[in-house]
Amino acid sequence: MNVDPALMEILACPCPAHATLHPGTAADPEADALTCAVCGRSFPVMDGIPVLLLDEVLPGTGPGTTDGVDGGGSRLDSG
Ligand SMILES: [Zn+2]
Repeated sequence: MNVDPALMEILACPCPAHATLHPGTAADPEADALTCAVCGRSFPVMDGIPVLLLDEVLPGTGPGTTDGVDGGGSRLDSG
């Protein structure tokens, strides 16, 4: 990852939270990407230039990407 530190300070996620971005992805901290601290979306970095477009979000990142998630909640078996 090679993004200007000064640039990092002013970058913000295009999501409604406009949260700060962290280098790398959740799966690979060394990846050429930036990950939002709030929504979890990861954006690619092309030639040192972050592509902060919701259309360019890396697959498998961000909200609502879980597949086959459990029902959640508590399940009590009485008997
Ligand atoms: Zn975000």
